[in-house]
Amino acid sequence: MKKHRGLTATILTMISLTAVFICACITIVGSVMIYIATEDGIKTEVHNAARELCNLYDTEFQGEYYMENGSLYKGGNMLSYKDFNAKISQVACSEDVDFTIFWGDTRMFTSIRRRDNSYFVGTSADKKISECVLDSGLEYYSGKIKINGKGYAGYYIPVMNSSAKTVGMIFAGRPLDAARSNMRMIIFVFALVSVCVMGVSMAVFRKFSMNLVRSLSDVSSFMENVANGGFGSELNPKTLSRTDEVGDIARSANTLRYNLRELVERDPLTSLLNRRSGRRAIDELIAKGKSYTAAMADIDYFKRINDGFGHACGDYVLKELSAFIREEAENRKGFVSRWGGEEFLIILPSKSIKEARDFLEELLDRIRNTEYMWNGERIPVTVTAGAAEAIMGETPDETINRADHLLYDGKKSGRDRLVT
Ligand code: GH3
Ligand code: MG
Ligand code: MG
Repeated sequence: MKKHRGLTATILTMISLTAVFICACITIVGSVMIYIATEDGIKTEVHNAARELCNLYDTEFQGEYYMENGSLYKGGNMLSYKDFNAKISQVACSEDVDFTIFWGDTRMFTSIRRRDNSYFVGTSADKKISECVLDSGLEYYSGKIKINGKGYAGYYIPVMNSSAKTVGMIFAGRPLDAARSNMRMIIFVFALVSVCVMGVSMAVFRKFSMNLVRSLSDVSSFMENVANGGFGSELNPKTLSRTDEVGDIARSANTLRYNLRELVERDPLTSLLNRRSGRRAIDELIAKGKSYTAAMADIDYFKRINDGFGHACGDYVLKELSAFIREEAENRKGFVSRWGGEEFLIILPSKSIKEARDFLEELLDRIRNTEYMWNGERIPVTVTAGAAEAIMGETPDETINRADHLLYDGKKSGRDRLVT
């Protein structure tokens, strides 16, 4: 039993390790891909948002940006928060995207607010960013920008005057906590799904492997029984019908049981039960509480057959006669064992001596009339038998002895007869 649990544990460990490894790989690779795709998505979104705001201003107010008396103008129009808010609400992007219009590196209009809800204007852009955008006139993106104490992923587009000098910037950015918490949620759901898939596949694997372990246990206990002489053991039909190697082993084990049983329990010449297993079969009958009649049958003048026709002929007669008696007895749920050289013990379960007599008389008659031919010659074969019904409280040996004595009486009184 312990051994089987060991096999179960081994298989389960194998399955679990494989499943955990696959699940971990899928989760890590999947998370990295989700992260990259999300970051890419944010970059594209803020880039498009910044570009769209630029275009909206360029479309409505044609001309360049300039500063006059502390106010920002474009194409002769003084810019206001009213225009700014109207335009940023027109930009197609997530609701949480913030926008800023810079003059130089100073915020002139922004949707970013301080804690007290006032606009975060008049403040300067990060020095590194403003240097990069204003000095080189190049667009700038970073996934890690700190504005007003908050992390942003943002895009800066340079704003130029007619002489191609960068005079300001337009910014669009998404607060990282919002963007990332979305991403974390997706990764969490993804990991959860892969853990669930792992759980389900482990359960399925477990079911299949348990079937295998059960079949192996079945074969193992079967072999143990057979090794201890339990030739009546049977394998589970499910194990026997398996189409894999375990099924092959089970079928071979079953054949082995059958052949061993034949070897141990049957006489090699006649295939009848040998004396020991015949005796055991009677014990099993008694254990089941069944009555029976025992008949001891002996071939008459068998020595003469051996002497007159040869030992091979004797063997032939023994085989033929055994097969006939066996078939007749088994047809009546009885059994036959080879008790001695040419002596057979016939057991007829649940048969009274009267019922047994009819059967045995007919059996002897049919033997008498059977033509046993050897090298073209007819061999006369007759059998004498003594039969006794088991009486309550009598041991099998006592019943057999009575039958044997009756057989002896039959021999003395002329042979080829039944004595009861
Ligand atoms: P009875 O009618 O008194 O039984 O006479 P019988 O000749 O049959 O009895 P006996 O005991 O004198 O001889 C039995 C013979 O059976 C002797 C033995 O050689 C032969 N015999 C025993 N076993 C075998 C066998 O397996 N094959 C062959 N061919 N002969 C066997
Ligand atoms: Mg004899
Ligand atoms: Mg004899």
